[in-house]
Amino acid sequence: PPEELGADKARVRVVVRVRPMNSRELERNDRAIIQMENDCSLMVQGAQHNRRFTFDSVFQSDSTQEDIFQNSGIKRLVDMSIEGYITTCFAYGQTGSGKTHTMIGPGGASVFRMDENYRIKHFGLVPRAINYLFQRLREKSQENHSPYYIRVSYCEIYNEQIHDLINPAHTQGLQIRGSVEDGFYVENLFQTYIETMDELLTILEEGELNRAMASHNLNDTSSRSHAMLSIQVEQDITESENSAEQMTRQGKLIFVDLAGKILVQQIFHEKTSPIFHSTGSEKVKVSLSKGKQLIETNNINKSLLTLGTCISALSDPVKRAGHIPYRDSKLTRLLADSLGGHGITLMLACVSPSHSCESETLSTLRYANRAKNI
Ligand code: ADP
Ligand code: MG
Repeated sequence: PPEELGADKARVRVVVRVRPMNSRELERNDRAIIQMENDCSLMVQGAQHNRRFTFDSVFQSDSTQEDIFQNSGIKRLVDMSIEGYITTCFAYGQTGSGKTHTMIGPGGASVFRMDENYRIKHFGLVPRAINYLFQRLREKSQENHSPYYIRVSYCEIYNEQIHDLINPAHTQGLQIRGSVEDGFYVENLFQTYIETMDELLTILEEGELNRAMASHNLNDTSSRSHAMLSIQVEQDITESENSAEQMTRQGKLIFVDLAGKILVQQIFHEKTSPIFHSTGSEKVKVSLSKGKQLIETNNINKSLLTLGTCISALSDPVKRAGHIPYRDSKLTRLLADSLGGHGITLMLACVSPSHSCESETLSTLRYANRAKNI
């Protein structure tokens, strides 16, 4: 098992990316409410108050995909996964705030079908990180003549059910096994070895299609489900030149594109109307007569709320020593060893600059702010 991290090496990094105004916001002449103070802090100029937040890094709306790759801390996650750590990068923020853009690229996996120049410029964190992972592993294996293996699984948590995105035929009733102590895993989840970047891109592309098929509408499912890409890195290592003993070092790099947030309180608040608008830009259409959608909304929030509760508990030195409610949702069970154990986490909070998203933006920044203290 990897050694404990020194105090100087934070286990959780929290960075914020502000996306540019989109055409709708520009046409409406929306007011930009986020002011950069420096590389780490920003000011939200709200309708009533100004609020300052400080993070490990803040990326302005003109930041490029390469900026985020170089300066978010993702390269360290890749390096640590090679060293045998469990590392997790998750994107958090309201629907339309830029999570998929930042993780995969503009338009999600469709970026993989564009020409080389476009891809170099627009690839998100996942393809850049995997490219870097392959590069580092190749270098390492040349240095010490040790083979390496990369195994990938891809699933989504939708309505508190787990769907296999690589092998969707396989998708019914996948169960989580394990324990807080030993880590949780999805039983029977399909895992595949990959040897090239293209193989990974194919998996991501097919995964996106499978996500869409499950709900007949990609936008719908991507705002309602959590997608989890898990990349297991294995290396055979020999302790010394003349040692016959072989060990396998296993680390993990996990990417989670979290569901967009839907404000449950408001759904109940405005019970009499069949269509609800949250105060953020996200329009939530939930008809109470449609029981299924309401269950989905509750379940998304169950995972997100539980994640928030776990993050809060972990960020409080007193509560941290007590019970952390990982078991209360599927998402938190699967992230338990990343969040609580020796794992290393990068949280990417995505926000819109527009005044029309003020309450969602504040809620995202507060959530992210708590994660800083883990
Ligand atoms: P989410 O996954 O959070 O719902 P998306 O990543 O799909 O949001 O982003 C919504 C739209 O905004 C997409 O068209 C996306 O390409 C665009 N967008 C998001 N972030 C940026 C950015 N940093 N620069 C340019 N366009 C962006
Ligand atoms: Mg998305």
